[in-house]
Formats: sequence, C-alpha cells, structure tokens
Amino acid sequence: MTGRKACGIIRGMKIALLASEVAPFAKTGGLADVAGALPKVLSKLGLEVVVLMPFYRETKKKNFSLKKIGSGGEFVWNGKPENCSLWEYREAGLSFVFVEKDEYFDRDYLYGTAQGDYPDNGERFAFFSRAALESLKLLGFRPDVIHGHDWQSALAPAYLKHVCSHDPFFARTRSLFTIHNLAYQGLFEKEILGRVGLPEYLFNMEDLEFYGRVNYLKAGILYSTAVSTVSPRYSQEIQTPEFGYRLDGLLRKRRGSLFGILNGVDCSDWNPATDKFIIKKFDVGSPGGKLDCKADLLRSLSLPRSKEDVPVVGMVSRLAGQKGLDILCDALDGMFKLGVYLIVLGTGEEVFQKALLSAQKKYSRFFGLRIAFDEALSHKIYAGSDIFLIPSRYEPCGLTQMYSLRYGTVPVVRATGGLEDTIQEFNSETNTGNGFKFQEYSASALLTSLQRAVSVYRQKEKWQTLLTKAMSCDFSWDRSAREYLRLYEKISSS
Ligand code: ADP
Repeated sequence: MTGRKACGIIRGMKIALLASEVAPFAKTGGLADVAGALPKVLSKLGLEVVVLMPFYRETKKKNFSLKKIGSGGEFVWNGKPENCSLWEYREAGLSFVFVEKDEYFDRDYLYGTAQGDYPDNGERFAFFSRAALESLKLLGFRPDVIHGHDWQSALAPAYLKHVCSHDPFFARTRSLFTIHNLAYQGLFEKEILGRVGLPEYLFNMEDLEFYGRVNYLKAGILYSTAVSTVSPRYSQEIQTPEFGYRLDGLLRKRRGSLFGILNGVDCSDWNPATDKFIIKKFDVGSPGGKLDCKADLLRSLSLPRSKEDVPVVGMVSRLAGQKGLDILCDALDGMFKLGVYLIVLGTGEEVFQKALLSAQKKYSRFFGLRIAFDEALSHKIYAGSDIFLIPSRYEPCGLTQMYSLRYGTVPVVRATGGLEDTIQEFNSETNTGNGFKFQEYSASALLTSLQRAVSVYRQKEKWQTLLTKAMSCDFSWDRSAREYLRLYEKISSS
C-alpha cells in the first residue's frame, strides 16, 4: 500500500462506482448528480474510477459518443447462462460503462410509470449489480473498493460475499455502500432470490429477510465493509425509530462502520457565471444579472410582472410526501397573503399534482406551476427566485439548498438531515447565517419562517448582505471527495 501513497493520498487506487442513475446520462433526482460529480473529483485526486450504470433508453436517445467495448461475462441467471454487452463513454480520464440488456433497460422510464414501479424491478437491478461484477472482470479492472449506491446497487456486496467469495479476482476488493434515502429499500417476494442467482438460505432474519420479504437495501447494509449516508445528521437520524424505516436496529449494530459525508455541488454544472440555461450570467462580485433572470423566470411562467418589488419563492422538487408537499399545500393561502410569487417545478404523486393545480387556478396571477421534469427550467428557478423553499419532512442531504445558495437564492428549510447541516438561521443583528429554518413540521411553522425571510427581503441592505453570504458558501465537492478518499483508504486496508 505504501508504494501507492503520494502526498498523503492514495494514487492509482481503483474504485468501481455503481449507480442506477448518473448525470448527465440519466437522472430522476439527487443520486444522479452525486454519481456524476463525485467520480470527476476522485479522478482529479488521482484515483482510477470506473462508473457503471444500466444502459437506458434515455441514455441511448442522448447521442453521447459511446463505444461498444465488449460482451460476455457469463453468469447464471434464472437458471440459465446469461451475459450482457458493455458500452463506454470516456471523458477526462474517467470511464463510464453502460450495462446493456434491452429487455430490462430499454424502456421509457428508469424505474416505472405514473401507474407505479415496473413489476420486474427486483430482477432488473439485481441483474445490473450482478452484471456489473462480471463487467469488471471483462474489463480487467480489479477494484480496491466497489462503491454502490442505494437499493438498486445493494446486491453487489451480496454477490461478492455469497457468490464470488472464492473468486481470486475480487480477493482484495472491499465495498462501501451509500444510502441516499433509507425509505426506498427494494422489497421483493422471497422467490426472487433463486431467480437472481442468490442462495435461498439467505432468506432468514440474520440475512435478507425483512418482515416476510427480501430487502435489497439490507444486503448493502449487512454485507458491505462500510456504510455511509449523505450527511452527518442523517447518519445519526437513521439510527432512530423515527427515521430508521425499521432498519434502525441494524444500522445501530453497524454504527462503528457507518459514516456521514455531505454531498457537494458540481460547480461546473451549477454556476451562475457560466450557466447556459440562464438569460444573464452573474456572480457574487456582480450580482446584477439576477434581476434579469427573475424577469425571465416570470415571463417563462407567464406571470404578469408586478409594479412593486415582489419576492419570488421557488421550489424544484419531487412531489412526494417526503418533500413536505402536504404542509406546503396547507400553507398556500397564507403564503399568498404574504405577497409573494410562488413557482413550483416538480413531478410525482397525483394527489399533490391535483392539489397544486387547483391552487394554481385560484392564484393564477401569483402561482407558476410546471408539472414536468425540466432541467433548463430548474436552472432558471435557482437563478431567478429570491427565496427557495424546502419544507421536507426528512432530507438525507438535499442538493437544492446548495444549488440555490450558489445562485443567491436564499433557502427557507425545515431543520432536518442535510438541511440542518447546511443552513444556519440568518441573524440580522450579527449578519450571520445563510437562510431560514423551522423545526416543527407544520404549515404555520413554514409560514412564520417564510415571513421572516420576506421581512428581511424588504430591508434591501440586509438582503444584499445575506445574498452575498449565501453566494459565498462553499459546498464544492473537493472536501467531501477527500472524505470519501480517506474512507476508501480506511476500508481497503481493513
Ligand atoms: P432527491 O434526490 O431526494 O429528489 P435532491 O435535493 O438530493 O433530492 O436532488 C434533487 C435533484 O433533482 C436536483 O438536481 C434537482 O434540481 C432535480 N430535480 C428535482 N425535480 C426536478 C424537476 N421536476 N425538474 C428538473 N430537475 C429536478
């Protein structure tokens, strides 16, 4: 090991990162941003990184210049020999490898339609994890650490331990499993084990059984060398019954190997000085362009511009219970009494779509709503809003507060998980803090906090101070990537 150390950093260490979505190839949420950004920084730090993901229709349509790099890697699947094809995209010393299996991945969506998850998701992502291991052998890439993310990659350590344990190729391979959201666990009927080539004796409480079903996330937690989650606060919260989704006991057992590393911001994608989606560039030294972005945002949503200086409250979010949509809907009447514009971009649960659509009809002059997944509009919202709202019930890390800070859009957040770790309440006496927070999960607490933000907004000098502080926050990946690096180092020498 010492031969590979340089400047206190292990150079040439090999990391295989497995994720079910990676920006810019396919994205539904924050996991894609993390899986796209972290490898770039790790590679700059001197690590050799291969990123593996399924080859979706979405990626095929994007016309990246991909090269077919092989096929084969036989393994048993559904009782028969199986293989896959691999495609590669190379950029700045990084290799992104796409596991092709059209019957599983050549579909309109990544995980399911508006009607629900694809019924064969258990097989689809087990296949991805299994094929990813064989792909590494095919590529001759012998990883020091396999770094899996969320339930879709969680079976990789199960295959390592129970199927490939005698394979000399992986003799020195350790594993890190990162939980981006404990609520999504990948639960399937017990027959899945045989189909995906895992021994059926694993269906017991000490292994993969979980209240009568197989739990993929549990495999990641149990069998990985170490487990991490995406903020220090969330790593504590998930050890409690309130946030533990019935895995808190297991997580407490693993607390000696459980770490919390905050996500970062990919400053090349999220930068108001260079952002290709916004009408006028700006930065902390010359924030003037933000006003043009605000006007452009209102225009994009066909909202009439008021003669008065009305603050714009933005939100870019999955429309899911986790994101605080119920208290948002309860707060809408009160919010418009505060005299703000509200702009919401999101997709998700029908009940919230309906509630928002009906409120939008009622407040059409002040409420811009777009039910869609729209990367360009999301950038316009970060840049053109004054205040960014994140009323989450729980939030493992949250990236949107960090993006909005970079664009001088002040976050109003519920104090939970990564939101608690990244946002400090603004104190107008001492000029400290970078946003506004509320503790209680309620519409009234949300409104009180928003009211504090609006009242500072009306004090122009104070707001300017806060805006400068917000834009100066540094959540770049560099620090977090170094923490991952130390963790890789620790587990690979264990
Ligand atoms: P989560 O992963 O729980 O959804 P995060 O805050 O970690 O939440 O990351 C959300 C990511 O998805 C951000 O990049 C955000 O801009 C993006 N996003 C969410 N909803 C949309 C949408 N409707 N259109 C475009 N981008 C979206």
